[in-house]
Amino acid sequence: MTTVRTTCPYCGVGCGVKAQLLPGDGAPEDRIAITGDPDHPANLGRLCSKGSALAETIWLQDRLLAPKVNGVDTSWDSALQLVADRFNAVIDEHGPDAVAFYVSGQFLTEDYYVANKLMKGFIGSGNIDTNSRLCMASSVAGHKRAFGTDTVPGLYTDLEEADLVVLVGSNLAWCHPVLYQRLVAAKTARPDLKVVTVDPRRTATADIADLHLGLTPGSDVALFNGLLVHLHEQGAVDTGFVLDHVSGFDEAVTAAYGDDLSVTGLAPAELEAFFRLWAGTRKVVTLYSQGVNQSSSGADKVNAILNCHLATGRIGHPGTGPFSVTGQPNAMGGREVGGLANMLACHLDIEDPAHRDAVRTFWDAPGLTETAGLKAVDMFRAVADGSIKAIWIAHTNPVVTLPEADAVKAALQACDFVVVSDITARADTARLADVLLPASAWGEKDGTVTNSERCISRQRAFLPAPGDTRPDWAMMAEVGRRMGHARAFDFASPAEIFREYAALSGIAGRFGRDFDISALAGITDTEYADLQPVRWPVTGVRTGGRFFGDGAFFTPDGKGRMLALQNRLPAAMPDADFPFVLNTGRIRDQWHTMTRTAKSPRLSAHLAEPFLEIHPADAGNLGLKPADLAQVDSPHGRAILRVRITDSVQPGQVFAPMHWTGENASAARIDAVVAAVTDPVSGQPETKAAVARVTKFQAQSFAFALSVAEPAPDAPYWARARARGGWRTELAWATPPADWTETARALFGLPDTAQPITVSDPARGIHRLAFFEGQKLVAALFAGPEPVAVSRQYLAGQLDGAADLGLLSGQPGADRPDPGAIVCSCFEVGVNTIRSAIAEQGLVTVEAIGAALRAGTNCGSCRPEIRALIEANAPNQMAAE
Ligand code: SF4
Repeated sequence: MTTVRTTCPYCGVGCGVKAQLLPGDGAPEDRIAITGDPDHPANLGRLCSKGSALAETIWLQDRLLAPKVNGVDTSWDSALQLVADRFNAVIDEHGPDAVAFYVSGQFLTEDYYVANKLMKGFIGSGNIDTNSRLCMASSVAGHKRAFGTDTVPGLYTDLEEADLVVLVGSNLAWCHPVLYQRLVAAKTARPDLKVVTVDPRRTATADIADLHLGLTPGSDVALFNGLLVHLHEQGAVDTGFVLDHVSGFDEAVTAAYGDDLSVTGLAPAELEAFFRLWAGTRKVVTLYSQGVNQSSSGADKVNAILNCHLATGRIGHPGTGPFSVTGQPNAMGGREVGGLANMLACHLDIEDPAHRDAVRTFWDAPGLTETAGLKAVDMFRAVADGSIKAIWIAHTNPVVTLPEADAVKAALQACDFVVVSDITARADTARLADVLLPASAWGEKDGTVTNSERCISRQRAFLPAPGDTRPDWAMMAEVGRRMGHARAFDFASPAEIFREYAALSGIAGRFGRDFDISALAGITDTEYADLQPVRWPVTGVRTGGRFFGDGAFFTPDGKGRMLALQNRLPAAMPDADFPFVLNTGRIRDQWHTMTRTAKSPRLSAHLAEPFLEIHPADAGNLGLKPADLAQVDSPHGRAILRVRITDSVQPGQVFAPMHWTGENASAARIDAVVAAVTDPVSGQPETKAAVARVTKFQAQSFAFALSVAEPAPDAPYWARARARGGWRTELAWATPPADWTETARALFGLPDTAQPITVSDPARGIHRLAFFEGQKLVAALFAGPEPVAVSRQYLAGQLDGAADLGLLSGQPGADRPDPGAIVCSCFEVGVNTIRSAIAEQGLVTVEAIGAALRAGTNCGSCRPEIRALIEANAPNQMAAE
């Protein structure tokens, strides 16, 4: 049994993973066991639901296995020559800024290094940007303004050592679950550790909050300005630290006094409680994430937080500091290696002539760009207006994830030359490619990633490369060679790239930059293969540790900079036409645009359909009932989503997940609705506070369908997800289909000869059909004039083995309880099972539920949902607990 230690490819926690190839005769992807690596400092053996299900996402169905030009398989030689020739032709005719790379936090650092070197060094344009722009560019900008560099000061252990952890704009429980579990464990062991959540939504993360502040969207600067004033008035400022190590204090405090705290919408008592707690606790960590970054004032929000830590000297010591957590596994690596259009490699600055000269000399790249390139939103605007004529998009899906996504789609449709490298052709963006390049996936490629605490870890291959797939660094380097830069891109392995990168970082270190891993520049191939997780910097005199505890910053005067800030509300405010603030974000069990996590029936069972969370009062005003469909409109696009009525969102606000694509739903690309408004400093789009109109989607027929084969829905609304042994699909029509049997055959791809078993009540508009082959269910459709009330989890289980002949009742027999929608993905425990345990067994703690059902006892990601079920179903017991 072979065990390979690697790193999870999803979020920025960067958990260590052990992949074991189990003995047997099946394909390797069927014999992989995934466990958490107990020796990795990020997770110490833990994994969340997504990490635990990694083995279910690596099978080869839907993989892109050969290069394609205009949809036709071709050789690597012809595909890459075409890419090199077309890029060279555009550059010759229109200049280097007429081409662009849009890459991804899924890139390994070595992939990033080669792409950045090719674009900035040898094509001579700054036009390489990464989808990390959508995730944490505001943190980069905030760090650079305050610290002089993009430096995360602290370590994950600071969350455990703090006496107060403030989580701002972060649903840590769902988006960084293992870090959340570490915080939960710390609070359980030390109940005096206080947790405050600051978020317009009351998310699962608030489960452990001593105080939740549901502030008005876009009022974070006002909140932290208010805190700064309070610190000033209460004598909580560290005047010695400020005098010696901070600039801009007086201006920042004066500006803070001029801000209007009332825009937060918080009650004076809430503000007072928060301010007193923060001011009175020396060991404070303020952790923030996309709720801060994804804003038209994201950089200011970051600096408002940093101001408070600089004013109090609460930075760089155990249990203290601001802490940006990144969304992607290698967002940090991309920041370090120059993946953003406005950075050179190794945190060197494009604007600095000395930095440019050093990189130019190191790379022997006389044509190195002199200027920053276009950031993501502007890059696609340049594609739309024709000034960018050739673009290479790698491992990302901008037709789904960029704001005004319909405009992005139109821009790519009209673009002269679109190259997409990805692991699948079944992605909205990949469908628009002239050239499709098959990339290696997680488990097949080698390199390094950096997590949110600056820890560099190896991703290691443990599966053979399928088909003609190649790692990204290899295809980028080959194009570089074919574009005429043979020597610069003569890389033979990721280890070779890493050594060059580490050597370049030594130059950055000599400029006094933070990012210096030059002690790794001489590692051998074997040492690279065995590289253990290590936090940067890694120099001859220092490895890892915290930054700024000594008061030494990377600004020209060596001081941390406080900024004078005023709150700016979101760029668009609700009005009579678009009365709702639309917030977008992640859910627990899906990753980005679902190209991998949607392969797991287990992960899909948690939330199988795109949805809109809306407050009960708003739902009532709009005539929306639970499970209705809502139409969400803005001037830019439309989405149709299932209604979830909840008071976790405030009146006037709605929330929708960002994962669903044109591949798995008819109209759920929520970023089509979001306006392309960006932060003026960071270029990060405002995807947490768009405006929208919500109306009821007027459907006269609804259906739930099951099928072994992938369905081909043709309805105004549909959403499909994997189930064990097949698919589950939701559908709705504005007018009922005339012939349900024909509709079902077309949906399921069945011949006219396929005869269903039917149960119909035409007078009530109810039609249920099932197609069998012997005892085996092939497909079934449950249709009616209202959202269909059947036991989906029970029915989804009917595809995997012999089916119940009575399944058209839509419910299991009395001898088989209906588990309900899955809450615990690890042990597939449903909501009804948990409710029954609460009601019938009197279980009123998460631990008791875990002991009885195992729910919540593996990764722990579902524990907040279990607690919410207990609170909803056993309020008296909880109150007494
Ligand atoms: Fe992967 Fe989950 Fe760890 Fe994030 S928290 S790195 S998704 S296992």
